[in-house]
Amino acid sequence: MTGLLEIFDPKAPPRAIGIDLGTTNSLVAYVKNERPTAVLDCNGHALLPSVVHYGDRGEVVVGENAALRAAESPRETIVSVKRFMGRGADDPETERLGPYAFAKPSSSEPNVVRFLVRDRAITPVEVSAEILRTLKHLAEDELRSVGGAVITVPAYFDDAQRQATKDAGRLAGLEVLRLLNEPTAAALAYGLDKKQNGKFAVYDLGGGTFDITILVLDNGVFQVCSTGGDSALGGDDMDRAIAHELFELSGRNWKVASPRDVRIALDLARAVKHGLTSGDEVEVENPFSTEPKSLVITRARFDALIEPLLARTGAACRRALKDAGLKATELDGVILVGGATRVLAVRAYVAKLFGKEPLADIDPDEVVALGAAVQADLLAGEGTANDVLLLDVIPLSLGIEVGCGLVDRILPRNTTTPAVARATYTTQQDNQTGFEIHVVQGERELAADCRSLAHFTLRGIPPMPAGMARLEVTFRVDADGLLSVHAHEQTTGHEQSVSVKPSYGLDDDTIEQMLLDAIDHGEEDIMARRLAEARTLAQRIIGSTKKSLEVDSDLLEPGEKERILTALSALEKITSEAKGDDARRVQLHIEDLDAATKDFAGRRMNRAIARAIAGQKLEAVEHTVEHAKGLEAAHAPRRST
Ligand code: ADP
Ligand code: MG
Repeated sequence: MTGLLEIFDPKAPPRAIGIDLGTTNSLVAYVKNERPTAVLDCNGHALLPSVVHYGDRGEVVVGENAALRAAESPRETIVSVKRFMGRGADDPETERLGPYAFAKPSSSEPNVVRFLVRDRAITPVEVSAEILRTLKHLAEDELRSVGGAVITVPAYFDDAQRQATKDAGRLAGLEVLRLLNEPTAAALAYGLDKKQNGKFAVYDLGGGTFDITILVLDNGVFQVCSTGGDSALGGDDMDRAIAHELFELSGRNWKVASPRDVRIALDLARAVKHGLTSGDEVEVENPFSTEPKSLVITRARFDALIEPLLARTGAACRRALKDAGLKATELDGVILVGGATRVLAVRAYVAKLFGKEPLADIDPDEVVALGAAVQADLLAGEGTANDVLLLDVIPLSLGIEVGCGLVDRILPRNTTTPAVARATYTTQQDNQTGFEIHVVQGERELAADCRSLAHFTLRGIPPMPAGMARLEVTFRVDADGLLSVHAHEQTTGHEQSVSVKPSYGLDDDTIEQMLLDAIDHGEEDIMARRLAEARTLAQRIIGSTKKSLEVDSDLLEPGEKERILTALSALEKITSEAKGDDARRVQLHIEDLDAATKDFAGRRMNRAIARAIAGQKLEAVEHTVEHAKGLEAAHAPRRST
């Protein structure tokens, strides 16, 4: 105790803050005398449990006091709200995630999950905003005035989840400077950026999520090289394993237990787990027995219980290393993040897995918030914002649907962000006055097998022959990982943009499943691509052949029209019926039609040239010539970069 009062300075400049908005715990930090420091509450705790309780008199309680009410009123107390961020209402995961009642989706946001709490429908964004508001007030108590905030998110958060997090920040009255990936924040807290070069793994085992990230530091610039993990793995699973054991030891069936008993067992389990970080065994009162009877869990038993969970983290780590093209021995360091890395067996496992002692000097609970504070300070400061360039990667390829349902990838998976890429397309049909733009995400060849992100139509293009329009599509992924798509028709100047805010959240399991699907269906997809390409080509040739039969019918020789029509209808038939590996058959029919029209096309060409010589407008000739050629391979919308 110094006995000195801090002097209130009404002109104290606003200070930037860093916030770790965790599934289990959240906290806020700022840079104090050049050192990132966590803000403590009046009890001296930095961690605010990410729990929000809605009381019967309309009061909202956040943190420890809310957590205490979870057992009594599970439906009115929202825990782990982060898992619901950006999730769809009809997502099967939603029902699985907790003992909550859900409100009917609203008509304005049909895809947003809403908790039904005492006749109120509350969105995850609103719940998260309560947590953020509490943190903001905590920071204000210490700093008087809070400036911008950096909020961290798991590296795997998709657009919807990131957007939801930003919305929550704004709702809480924060100026969100940017979102920062949690592993990158941890590396910043360790000041690894000062080393200039190196390769690091960040092993983050929190309450409900496991993230592994491989960071490469190249000349002072961080690059997230690969990410992996499991959105349903963390300290909570250890609690569940222990709770299971407690039920078993007291001879009760966990499957028929009331939600209240489950909650009590889980709370007890958590205490046991924490106790085992220092002790070799923990003894607890049996909560389900009337006579005093204690239950004992030893460290050895605990280690055995969590072994399968650790093995799952190991598998994800090996995959992430493989994705990054690195061996464990090539890493310069491994950082431990998340409260669950306090568990001794976890530390030992990580040391063995990577073959080196992990960095753990900074409190694993605080390290992410401290790094966010460092970043916030940099962003708020003048001229220093570019000191650290934080690069992240796109977890799944982004592209648009082109002719016959194929996907044209514009930003491939693992592209570092922020990123911009453009591609140019043209029209498939004559006089097409609009472009349907379908933005998709995924690794499959057909748009139907990818995740649909957005649909929009660019209208008002004047009628032009196929292939004349020039549509430039720009994909831009910003530093927060949010995608915006811009379409610009260059001959007319028409343009339109969308910011993609997909209705569903994508978790890492889904991402992994999508990647696995792409591998599983590789051959099938190549087949489908070939067929779609052949079909697009066939359709164009059919269209132009029909047109030329009309325009230049006088050039046909006796019997020629019948031959062409026979080949044409055979091609139409196979084009509409083709499936599986029929691409080759479509191709053969194209060749047949080519052969049938060869002489006719030659005559048309001669006529076109004669007209040109006779002084016709050049474009008209070019157009005629193009049709006369019967169209060389081109699928559309055709990429012309
Ligand atoms: P999140 O990132 O999901 O918010 P945290 O990083 O705060 O999670 O980690 C919370 C998890 O860490 C909880 O499962 C908690 O029980 C666990 N944890 C915290 N302290 C300890 C400890 N001393 N021993 C074991 N586990 C701990
Ligand atoms: Mg965390």
